Amino acid sequence: MNRPRRDPRGERAGQRVGGVQGAAPAGGHARPRFDLFGAPQPGAVRNAVSNAGSFAVRRDPRAHWAAAMTRGGARPRFDLSLLGQNLLGQGLLIQARALDAQAAAPELAPQAPQVRIIDDPAFLVLALADAPGGHLTTQDRQLLGAARLLADAGGGAVLLLASLMPEDSSAAGADRVAGLCGDDADGRADALAAAIAALAPRHVLFAETPTGGDLARRVAVRLDEPLFCGAEQISAKSIARPARGRTVERRSTPPRLITLADGAAAPHGRVVHEARPVELPRPAPRESFILAVEEVPADPATVALGEADFVLSAGHGVSDFEAFRALAVALRATPGASRMVCDAGLMPRAAQVGASGTVLAARCYFALGIAGAPQHLQGIAGCEHVLAVNIDLHAAMVARAGLAIVQDAQLVMPALLKALHEEAGA
Ligand SMILES: Cc1cc2nc3c(=O)[nH]c(=O)nc-3n(C[C@H](O)[C@H](O)[C@H](O)COP(=O)(O)OP(=O)(O)OC[C@H]3O[C@@H](n4cnc5c(N)ncnc54)[C@H](O)[C@@H]3O)c2cc1C
Repeated sequence: MNRPRRDPRGERAGQRVGGVQGAAPAGGHARPRFDLFGAPQPGAVRNAVSNAGSFAVRRDPRAHWAAAMTRGGARPRFDLSLLGQNLLGQGLLIQARALDAQAAAPELAPQAPQVRIIDDPAFLVLALADAPGGHLTTQDRQLLGAARLLADAGGGAVLLLASLMPEDSSAAGADRVAGLCGDDADGRADALAAAIAALAPRHVLFAETPTGGDLARRVAVRLDEPLFCGAEQISAKSIARPARGRTVERRSTPPRLITLADGAAAPHGRVVHEARPVELPRPAPRESFILAVEEVPADPATVALGEADFVLSAGHGVSDFEAFRALAVALRATPGASRMVCDAGLMPRAAQVGASGTVLAARCYFALGIAGAPQHLQGIAGCEHVLAVNIDLHAAMVARAGLAIVQDAQLVMPALLKALHEEAGA
């Protein structure tokens, strides 16, 4: 068989567009570069075989995604139909199609979210949120997600009850919201029992937390009704929880009073609901032995790290510990640290956050100069909001954070202190 012979070195040399081996050219490239798309340069020895099969076009994933980006929204969106099945060698084609599509499409105005309104619900599902300080916790959102599951199955509405009304109830899936009166647990149980008697809801959901669980048991006793505690699975037709040391599963149709374990349902995340405020009937006042109730906030400087709500943590990137301590006081945060800092004796061992330190349950974690090693990130897995200050944009902690400042921590700390003092003065 008469097959022409390939010369790969000659082919490659023919495609070289810049760089001289051993010396940097005036244009800048010290290393030789190859134009794989261009016409062969003089000197290339190409033949039929090499033309057919020796050119692999290099993929540039960033260019692909940039080409598929559609305009008009507040957040970047990608038209995946523009990314062909076989990306190899199609970069320019994709880019051209994307640019054509964008030129043809009118500039899209950001759309207001659609609000779902249920005027005349067939029945009600009550969700009792803990909402400490008027903020929905992750478990509160799961509770509302479960309530939506039960309500949507039969055209019902979700009524969210909390002592302090949360602002983001509509996005969390509440059709109605109402404040639950009562100064103490007994008062709230009375108010809730009166509301249940007046509204006759099909289901009442509580979070299996110290506050929610306690209220659920008080209400169950007042109404003399069974309570399904610690449900770990819930759907419109069935509810389940482990029993006998998790060796068996107890399953039933959803009863009226239910407490939900953490993670039993996903938070509601699609449609915004109306969250219309409603008034609840007030229970008849009754004689109480408790004369006054006042919540005394714990001192953040001394509260146990595992119970702290807001932790400000120092890593190896912090050298000004005076500013760090002053910032912790000004922010009313509990001080924490990475293992590096504790090993160096700059912070007590009790302040160590992470797998071999304390696992946090804080709502907010503020990391200063912490890289975000896996052992450290294990300790903050349950934190709802993470803020990071780091000079390295690519640090794992910056990737984990919802808000990151790429700057020297020694500059950020005094700036924050100044802003806090100015705010306090104003
Ligand atoms: C078995 C085992 C268990 C462990 N358990 C834990 C644990 O429980 N907790 C824990 O924290 N670690 C733990 N570690 C250690 C962990 O692997 C990391 O070594 C440690 O978390 C690193 O701490 P760091 O992020 O403070 O320091 P570094 O890794 O040194 O990171 C410092 C960071 O600060 C940034 N930085 C530097 N200068 C500045 C500046 N001026 N301003 C802002 N940023 C700056 C850097 O970019 C870097 O990202 C464990 C390790 C092992 C092997």
